[in-house]
Amino acid sequence: MNTDFYVTVLGSGAAISTHTRNCSGQIVHLHGFRMLIDCGEATQIQLRVCHERLQSIELVCISHLHGDHFFGLPGLLSTMQLCGREAPLTVVGPLGLRSIMDSIFNLSGSHIDYPIEYHELDYESLANGLQLQVFSNNKCTVRAFALRHSVPSFGYIVEDKPKKGESPHRYAYCCDTAYFEELAQQVEGVDLLCMESTYLDSYAERAVQHQHSTASQAATVARDAHAGQLLLTHFSNRFKEPHAFLDEASPIFPNVILAEDCKRYGVF
Ligand SMILES: [Zn+2]
Ligand SMILES: [Zn+2]
Repeated sequence: MNTDFYVTVLGSGAAISTHTRNCSGQIVHLHGFRMLIDCGEATQIQLRVCHERLQSIELVCISHLHGDHFFGLPGLLSTMQLCGREAPLTVVGPLGLRSIMDSIFNLSGSHIDYPIEYHELDYESLANGLQLQVFSNNKCTVRAFALRHSVPSFGYIVEDKPKKGESPHRYAYCCDTAYFEELAQQVEGVDLLCMESTYLDSYAERAVQHQHSTASQAATVARDAHAGQLLLTHFSNRFKEPHAFLDEASPIFPNVILAEDCKRYGVF
Protein backbone atom coordinates (compact mmCIF):
# COMPACT_ATOMS: atom_id res chain seq x y z
CA MET A 1 0.00 0.00 0.00
CA ASN A 2 1.14 3.52 -0.76
CA THR A 3 2.03 5.10 2.57
CA ASP A 4 2.09 8.70 1.29
CA PHE A 5 -1.49 8.90 0.02
CA TYR A 6 -4.06 6.54 1.48
CA VAL A 7 -7.50 6.35 3.00
CA THR A 8 -8.59 4.84 6.33
CA VAL A 9 -12.25 3.82 6.21
CA LEU A 10 -13.92 4.55 9.55
CA GLY A 11 -17.42 3.56 8.46
CA SER A 12 -18.66 1.67 5.42
CA GLY A 13 -22.33 1.16 6.25
CA ALA A 14 -25.46 2.97 5.04
CA ALA A 15 -27.98 4.70 7.32
CA ILE A 16 -28.07 2.18 10.18
CA SER A 17 -24.76 1.22 11.74
CA THR A 18 -24.11 -2.42 12.61
CA HIS A 19 -21.50 -4.11 14.79
CA THR A 20 -19.24 -4.48 11.74
CA ARG A 21 -20.05 -1.33 9.76
CA ASN A 22 -20.25 2.15 11.23
CA CYS A 23 -21.88 5.08 9.43
CA SER A 24 -19.86 7.00 6.85
CA GLY A 25 -16.48 8.50 7.66
CA GLN A 26 -12.93 8.23 6.41
CA ILE A 27 -9.54 9.82 6.91
CA VAL A 28 -7.51 10.76 3.86
CA HIS A 29 -3.77 10.80 4.58
CA LEU A 30 -1.51 12.74 2.28
CA HIS A 31 2.17 13.19 3.12
CA GLY A 32 1.31 13.70 6.80
CA PHE A 33 -1.73 15.90 6.14
CA ARG A 34 -5.01 14.43 7.40
CA MET A 35 -8.54 15.28 6.42
CA LEU A 36 -11.82 13.72 7.47
CA ILE A 37 -14.54 13.11 4.89
CA ASP A 38 -17.98 12.65 6.45
CA CYS A 39 -18.56 12.18 10.14
CA GLY A 40 -21.42 9.82 10.93
CA GLU A 41 -22.36 9.01 14.50
CA ALA A 42 -19.54 7.38 16.50
CA THR A 43 -16.85 8.57 14.10
CA GLN A 44 -14.77 9.76 17.06
CA ILE A 45 -14.92 6.26 18.54
CA GLN A 46 -13.90 4.79 15.21
CA LEU A 47 -10.95 7.20 15.08
CA ARG A 48 -9.73 5.70 18.33
CA VAL A 49 -10.45 2.11 17.32
CA CYS A 50 -8.56 2.66 14.06
CA HIS A 51 -5.64 4.42 15.84
CA GLU A 52 -6.19 7.69 13.99
CA ARG A 53 -5.13 10.83 15.83
CA LEU A 54 -8.13 13.09 16.29
CA GLN A 55 -6.28 16.37 16.83
CA SER A 56 -4.20 16.03 13.69
CA ILE A 57 -7.25 16.47 11.44
CA GLU A 58 -6.90 19.83 9.67
CA LEU A 59 -9.89 19.69 7.34
CA VAL A 60 -13.37 18.16 7.51
CA CYS A 61 -15.50 17.78 4.37
CA ILE A 62 -19.16 16.80 4.80
CA SER A 63 -20.96 15.38 1.77
CA HIS A 64 -24.54 16.13 2.79
CA LEU A 65 -26.80 16.69 5.75
CA HIS A 66 -28.23 13.22 6.20
CA GLY A 67 -27.53 12.08 9.73
CA ASP A 68 -25.42 9.07 8.80
CA HIS A 69 -22.90 11.53 7.30
CA PHE A 70 -22.61 14.25 9.93
CA PHE A 71 -24.33 13.43 13.25
CA GLY A 72 -20.89 12.70 14.68
CA LEU A 73 -19.56 16.19 13.94
CA PRO A 74 -20.75 18.16 16.99
CA GLY A 75 -19.37 15.46 19.27
CA LEU A 76 -16.06 15.34 17.45
CA LEU A 77 -15.59 19.13 17.50
CA SER A 78 -16.50 19.21 21.22
CA THR A 79 -14.01 16.47 21.99
CA MET A 80 -11.31 18.41 20.14
CA GLN A 81 -12.09 21.35 22.45
CA LEU A 82 -12.07 19.18 25.59
CA CYS A 83 -8.71 17.73 24.57
CA GLY A 84 -7.22 21.22 24.35
CA ARG A 85 -7.18 21.89 20.67
CA GLU A 86 -5.79 25.27 19.67
CA ALA A 87 -5.06 24.66 16.00
CA PRO A 88 -7.56 25.97 13.46
CA LEU A 89 -9.95 23.62 11.67
CA THR A 90 -11.57 24.09 8.27
CA VAL A 91 -15.05 22.60 7.82
CA VAL A 92 -16.54 22.30 4.33
CA GLY A 93 -20.13 21.23 3.76
CA PRO A 94 -23.57 22.13 2.44
CA LEU A 95 -25.25 25.44 3.18
CA GLY A 96 -26.87 25.26 6.62
CA LEU A 97 -24.14 23.20 8.27
CA ARG A 98 -22.76 26.18 10.14
CA SER A 99 -26.12 27.25 11.59
CA ILE A 100 -26.83 23.67 12.72
CA MET A 101 -23.47 23.51 14.47
CA ASP A 102 -23.82 26.98 15.99
CA SER A 103 -27.30 26.10 17.31
CA ILE A 104 -26.08 22.89 18.90
CA PHE A 105 -23.12 24.61 20.56
CA ASN A 106 -25.17 27.61 21.70
CA LEU A 107 -28.11 25.65 23.09
CA SER A 108 -25.88 23.11 24.81
CA GLY A 109 -23.62 25.78 26.29
CA SER A 110 -20.60 24.32 24.55
CA HIS A 111 -17.69 26.68 24.00
CA ILE A 112 -15.42 26.10 21.08
CA ASP A 113 -12.37 28.30 21.49
CA TYR A 114 -10.17 27.09 18.65
CA PRO A 115 -10.86 28.75 15.28
CA ILE A 116 -13.27 26.95 12.95
CA GLU A 117 -13.49 28.29 9.42
CA TYR A 118 -16.64 27.16 7.66
CA HIS A 119 -16.83 26.95 3.89
CA GLU A 120 -20.45 26.32 2.93
CA LEU A 121 -21.34 25.07 -0.53
CA ASP A 122 -24.28 26.31 -2.56
CA TYR A 123 -25.69 23.37 -4.52
CA GLU A 124 -27.27 25.50 -7.26
CA SER A 125 -23.96 27.13 -8.16
CA LEU A 126 -22.42 23.69 -8.85
CA ALA A 127 -25.45 22.03 -10.41
CA ASN A 128 -24.21 22.70 -13.93
CA GLY A 129 -21.24 20.35 -13.60
CA LEU A 130 -18.65 22.83 -12.29
CA GLN A 131 -16.00 21.90 -9.76
CA LEU A 132 -15.06 24.29 -6.97
CA GLN A 133 -11.73 24.34 -5.17
CA VAL A 134 -12.57 24.30 -1.47
CA PHE A 135 -9.13 23.83 0.06
CA SER A 136 -5.49 24.05 -0.91
CA ASN A 137 -2.18 23.79 0.91
CA ASN A 138 1.33 22.76 -0.07
CA LYS A 139 0.34 19.07 -0.16
CA CYS A 140 -3.01 18.94 -1.91
CA THR A 141 -6.03 20.62 -3.39
CA VAL A 142 -9.60 19.55 -2.68
CA ARG A 143 -12.45 20.21 -5.07
CA ALA A 144 -16.19 19.75 -4.61
CA PHE A 145 -18.84 18.96 -7.19
CA ALA A 146 -22.57 18.25 -7.14
CA LEU A 147 -23.96 14.73 -6.78
CA ARG A 148 -27.63 13.79 -7.14
CA HIS A 149 -29.42 12.81 -3.96
CA SER A 150 -32.61 13.63 -2.05
CA VAL A 151 -30.85 16.61 -0.39
CA PRO A 152 -27.92 18.68 -1.75
CA SER A 153 -24.95 16.31 -1.79
CA PHE A 154 -21.34 16.89 -2.82
CA GLY A 155 -18.54 14.69 -4.05
CA TYR A 156 -14.91 15.54 -3.27
CA ILE A 157 -11.70 15.07 -5.23
CA VAL A 158 -8.39 15.18 -3.37
CA GLU A 159 -5.37 15.76 -5.58
CA ASP A 160 -1.81 15.65 -4.35
CA LYS A 161 0.97 18.04 -5.35
CA PRO A 162 3.87 15.78 -6.30
CA LYS A 163 7.42 16.95 -6.85
CA LYS A 164 8.25 18.44 -10.21
CA GLY A 165 7.90 16.15 -13.21
CA GLU A 166 5.43 13.76 -11.65
CA SER A 167 1.78 13.84 -12.51
CA PRO A 168 -0.65 14.29 -9.61
CA HIS A 169 -2.68 11.46 -8.10
CA ARG A 170 -6.35 11.82 -7.37
CA TYR A 171 -8.85 10.31 -4.99
CA ALA A 172 -12.61 10.80 -5.48
CA TYR A 173 -15.39 10.29 -2.92
CA CYS A 174 -18.99 10.03 -4.19
CA CYS A 175 -21.45 9.33 -1.40
CA ASP A 176 -24.49 9.61 -1.37
CA THR A 177 -25.65 9.77 -4.96
CA ALA A 178 -27.94 8.28 -7.53
CA TYR A 179 -26.29 7.11 -10.74
CA PHE A 180 -26.10 9.75 -13.45
CA GLU A 181 -24.18 9.58 -16.68
CA GLU A 182 -22.22 12.82 -16.21
CA LEU A 183 -20.74 11.61 -12.94
CA ALA A 184 -18.02 9.75 -14.87
CA GLN A 185 -16.81 13.04 -16.34
CA GLN A 186 -16.49 14.55 -12.88
CA VAL A 187 -14.17 11.76 -11.74
CA GLU A 188 -12.42 11.10 -15.06
CA GLY A 189 -9.05 9.41 -14.60
CA VAL A 190 -8.93 9.32 -10.80
CA ASP A 191 -6.59 6.74 -9.31
CA LEU A 192 -9.08 5.59 -6.69
CA LEU A 193 -12.84 6.12 -6.86
CA CYS A 194 -14.76 5.54 -3.65
CA MET A 195 -18.42 5.34 -4.50
CA GLU A 196 -21.52 4.35 -2.64
CA SER A 197 -23.28 1.12 -3.56
CA THR A 198 -26.14 1.00 -1.13
CA TYR A 199 -28.01 -1.63 -3.10
CA LEU A 200 -27.69 -4.66 -5.34
CA ASP A 201 -29.39 -4.82 -8.74
CA SER A 202 -32.44 -6.56 -7.24
CA TYR A 203 -33.17 -3.24 -5.51
CA ALA A 204 -32.50 -1.04 -8.57
CA GLU A 205 -35.95 0.50 -8.41
CA ARG A 206 -35.51 1.39 -4.76
CA ALA A 207 -32.10 2.88 -5.58
CA VAL A 208 -33.80 5.27 -8.01
CA GLN A 209 -36.53 6.12 -5.48
CA HIS A 210 -34.08 6.91 -2.69
CA GLN A 211 -31.42 8.35 -5.01
CA HIS A 212 -28.73 5.86 -4.19
CA SER A 213 -26.59 3.65 -6.46
CA THR A 214 -26.21 -0.07 -7.01
CA ALA A 215 -22.87 -1.88 -7.21
CA SER A 216 -23.17 -2.27 -10.98
CA GLN A 217 -23.94 1.44 -11.39
CA ALA A 218 -20.84 2.35 -9.38
CA ALA A 219 -18.84 -0.02 -11.57
CA THR A 220 -20.26 1.67 -14.66
CA VAL A 221 -19.07 5.05 -13.40
CA ALA A 222 -15.60 3.64 -12.65
CA ARG A 223 -15.40 2.06 -16.12
CA ASP A 224 -16.60 5.16 -17.97
CA ALA A 225 -14.29 7.39 -15.92
CA HIS A 226 -11.26 5.14 -16.60
CA ALA A 227 -10.61 5.03 -12.86
CA GLY A 228 -7.65 3.05 -11.58
CA GLN A 229 -9.55 1.23 -8.84
CA LEU A 230 -13.05 1.24 -7.38
CA LEU A 231 -13.73 1.12 -3.65
CA LEU A 232 -17.37 0.37 -2.88
CA THR A 233 -18.89 1.63 0.36
CA HIS A 234 -22.19 2.59 2.11
CA PHE A 235 -23.72 -0.89 2.06
CA SER A 236 -27.30 -1.34 3.18
CA ASN A 237 -27.47 -3.69 6.16
CA ARG A 238 -30.24 -5.71 4.48
CA PHE A 239 -27.59 -7.49 2.40
CA LYS A 240 -25.89 -10.09 4.56
CA GLU A 241 -23.48 -11.39 1.94
CA PRO A 242 -21.00 -8.63 0.98
CA HIS A 243 -19.50 -10.73 -1.79
CA ALA A 244 -22.65 -10.18 -3.86
CA PHE A 245 -21.56 -6.55 -4.37
CA LEU A 246 -18.30 -7.76 -5.92
CA ASP A 247 -20.13 -10.31 -8.05
CA GLU A 248 -22.32 -7.60 -9.57
CA ALA A 249 -19.60 -4.96 -9.99
CA SER A 250 -16.60 -6.96 -11.21
CA PRO A 251 -17.96 -8.04 -14.64
CA ILE A 252 -18.28 -4.32 -15.46
CA PHE A 253 -15.14 -3.08 -13.69
CA PRO A 254 -12.79 -5.83 -12.50
CA ASN A 255 -10.49 -3.77 -10.28
CA VAL A 256 -13.04 -3.38 -7.49
CA ILE A 257 -12.78 -3.86 -3.72
CA LEU A 258 -15.22 -3.57 -0.82
CA ALA A 259 -14.58 -1.06 1.95
CA GLU A 260 -14.22 -2.48 5.45
CA ASP A 261 -14.12 -0.45 8.65
CA CYS A 262 -10.66 0.32 9.97
CA LYS A 263 -8.90 -0.86 6.80
CA ARG A 264 -6.52 1.30 4.80
CA TYR A 265 -6.52 1.68 1.03
CA GLY A 266 -3.71 3.18 -1.02
CA VAL A 267 -4.87 5.77 -3.54
CA PHE A 268 -2.42 4.50 -6.18
ZN1 LIG B 1 -25.91 7.83 3.64
ZN1 LIG C 1 -27.96 10.37 2.11
